[in-house]
Amino acid sequence: MAESKRNGNAIVIGGSIAGLMAARVLADHFVRVTLIERDILTHGPEQRKGVPQGQQGHGLLAGGQRAMEGLFPGLTADLVAEGATTLDVIADATWHQPGSYRLRFASGLEGISLSRPLLEAGIRRRVRALANVAVLDGCEVTGLVASGDRARVTGVTVRRRDGEAAEEALAAALVVDAGGRGSRAPSWLEALGYARPEEEKIAVGVGYTSRLYRRRPGDLPGARAAICQPTPPHETRIGVLLPLEGDRWIATLAGWLGDHAPADDAGFLAFARSLAAPDIYDVIKQAEPLGDYATHKFPANLRRRYERLGRVPEGYAVVGDALCSFNPTYGQGMSSAALAVMALADCLREARGDLRGLPGRFYKRAATVIDTPWQMAAGGDFAYPGVTGKRAPGTDVINGYMGRVFGAATADRHVCRTLVEVANLLAPPSALFAPRVLLGVLRSTLRRPQATQLARTLPAPSTAD
Ligand SMILES: Cc1cc2nc3c(=O)[nH]c(=O)nc-3n(C[C@H](O)[C@H](O)[C@H](O)COP(=O)(O)OP(=O)(O)OC[C@H]3O[C@@H](n4cnc5c(N)ncnc54)[C@H](O)[C@@H]3O)c2cc1C
Repeated sequence: MAESKRNGNAIVIGGSIAGLMAARVLADHFVRVTLIERDILTHGPEQRKGVPQGQQGHGLLAGGQRAMEGLFPGLTADLVAEGATTLDVIADATWHQPGSYRLRFASGLEGISLSRPLLEAGIRRRVRALANVAVLDGCEVTGLVASGDRARVTGVTVRRRDGEAAEEALAAALVVDAGGRGSRAPSWLEALGYARPEEEKIAVGVGYTSRLYRRRPGDLPGARAAICQPTPPHETRIGVLLPLEGDRWIATLAGWLGDHAPADDAGFLAFARSLAAPDIYDVIKQAEPLGDYATHKFPANLRRRYERLGRVPEGYAVVGDALCSFNPTYGQGMSSAALAVMALADCLREARGDLRGLPGRFYKRAATVIDTPWQMAAGGDFAYPGVTGKRAPGTDVINGYMGRVFGAATADRHVCRTLVEVANLLAPPSALFAPRVLLGVLRSTLRRPQATQLARTLPAPSTAD
């Protein structure tokens, strides 16, 4: 429900997924919202320099899709009209997970598959249509402006990228920084006399290689997408085949710890063939390629702990990848950003126009939202002994249990559904420890030697945690 617009101006730094969603939320609470983006933004779905990852396959989790639909009612239908594919996330994907194929059955858990630029363009169009939002593109935010005592951020300095105008200052009661993983927020805060946030890094050495192909009916019999996850620690390769608008596939092959798919025909196909399941290779070996390969390196999960800072300035909040950038193989970035933006919306609603203390309250709430996807990504990554970083207590025990859950999800519908709901940020991880799931896992472990065997390949539970 929109609040009365008690505050004057708000500014959003960055016009990608997190920034656009933040602008939508701020539009309910401010007279005017200015979204500032370094790139020139077109009206259609285009790749752009500020979002190089847009060339890679982007899965949208059902939890993120629901949050986006909540912010922009009718968005899903618009995107489908533009060529996005709807799918039942359990029935319509062949999903080879550690050990074997996950069960497939009609679940009613609907998702969509589309290119990252189409999703961004769809959201951008909705934001541009908001009467009190102005988009200032081709402009770079160069720094923060603060009150004399530096207790409050009062705006930003901006420079046009064409260099035609001098740097100027724009005032705002709230600045939301959605500048992405490379956000300069830590140095800007330092320049104002604040501590930099502690950074948690989990080095995964992930590399992506993607290519587009023409999609023909019958390419993937009985399914609309294919995912092949590795069984750690011995397998390090993952593959995803997603339908995109314009009758295209995107095949994305990635690997942990430097095991990256080559960007040439022979190497790419050989990598696809080496995956634990043949579905992706069987499609791309005979499909018509459209364009060249695109690669992207992702060195580490990176979480900036703003919520642990004793002192933060009023009037400034950091969201999206700038707050937490996850190993993309779990497909959580956009959805986690959506859930954190919803937390910002809750904080703004509760503030009822009084913005004092809002950043601190937001960081604490966002941290609890981010904890779940962070634990899933970090936990999964630590199944590889070569991954370095700070392990949360109990990581190995949980990974051992997750191996058994994966095993049970190949035979038990309830376990499978719960696993998918948790992975899609629709249910908390604690759902995997509910009695019915525990029972299914126990039954499966007793009945299926494969599941037990899989669990044994995962690191042994450690009492050292
Ligand atoms: C290889 C790869 C694959 C991924 N796959 C998935 C996936 O399958 N599913 C998923 O949900 N997520 C995925 N992600 C994550 C996803 O791309 C991000 O979470 C998502 O883009 C949200 O990020 P953001 O809006 O916070 O920042 P970004 O998308 O990085 O955008 C930051 C924006 O800010 C602008 N900007 C930066 N600084 C300034 C400045 N000073 N002034 C003006 N503008 C500025 C940039 O130009 C850019 O437009 C993937 C990421 C990578 C790297």
